Amino acid sequence: MIKNSKIIDGKLHAQNLLKKLKPFGVKYFEKFGRKPSLAVILLGDNPASQIYVKNKIRISRDNNIKSTEILFPNDISENKLLDKIIELNKNNSIDGILVQLPLPKHISEKIIINTIDPEKDVDGFHPKNFGNLLMGNSNLVPCTPLGCIYMLKNELTNLNGKHAVIIGRSNIVGKPMASLLLSSNCTVTVTHSKTKNLDDICKRADILVAAIGRPAMINENYIKENAIVIDVGINRVENNNHKLSQKKYTLVGDVDYDRVIDKVSKITPVPGGVGPMTIACLMHNTLKAAFLRKKENFISIIEGV
Ligand code: NAD
Repeated sequence: MIKNSKIIDGKLHAQNLLKKLKPFGVKYFEKFGRKPSLAVILLGDNPASQIYVKNKIRISRDNNIKSTEILFPNDISENKLLDKIIELNKNNSIDGILVQLPLPKHISEKIIINTIDPEKDVDGFHPKNFGNLLMGNSNLVPCTPLGCIYMLKNELTNLNGKHAVIIGRSNIVGKPMASLLLSSNCTVTVTHSKTKNLDDICKRADILVAAIGRPAMINENYIKENAIVIDVGINRVENNNHKLSQKKYTLVGDVDYDRVIDKVSKITPVPGGVGPMTIACLMHNTLKAAFLRKKENFISIIEGV
């Protein structure tokens, strides 16, 4: 098998999903006389967050979703931010609200997330949406794990009975990923920083999802022959030769791609794997929120979600 045929092309999957979503935006406009709309709140000047938000706004606009960027300084008070969210909750022409994480230390992520109207919670982090996900109900599901399950379902004919191991137990990736894999009939093991014999557990995985935040931590010693690997990690690693390559940082996943490529059956690259799918799933969730708020049917295009 040549190495390229092993790559799960996240950009291509994202394009396919966006193509399937297009008619929903058109239908919404025809029926309600306005585009579905997304408000994105960004605090401060974290360069990575600025890039993520810029991409979200650009891709919304390319896909007939009205997007509004709301910028605040890093030192805005929690109350002022809450006031803005409450105002957006009440604004009937806003369908989705996203607050770009991480937030500065003086602001509680928990309070912010809990204040967003669950019907507009396109990130799927509100406890009501999270609870529905755990109960196997279709609702607004966190974008990154939604993108991972979309790719897995498109790459594999059947997930039934596969042993999926997830490294990482965050609310954003690890836990919702476990729930989605469980609903897809996988046998699921969730591991984390206190897990013992991590390599042995990972070596039993038919599907390995790495969401750790440690550059290239997962090498061939963690991989079962022919496993499918989903590398969620996005780590900025300083480029020592940046004068030569012009770039100060390189983006690296949690998986050491070069050391595992001969062993895996498929793998998502970084960049170009999970990242593009996360944004496409944000578009999915914004359209879904817009339709559901109007009590309109949103035919699920991601099987089982
Ligand atoms: P997090 O820091 O909230 O969670 C990391 C998890 O990894 C924790 O549960 C921790 O227990 C586990 N962990 C840490 N060190 C470990 C070790 N040595 N062995 C085993 N487990 C270990 O991070 P997160 O928000 O879940 O993000 C994880 C990674 O995914 C980061 O690199 C982040 O940038 C990336 N990410 C990418 C996207 C995307 O769109 N591609 C979206 C969200 C997060």
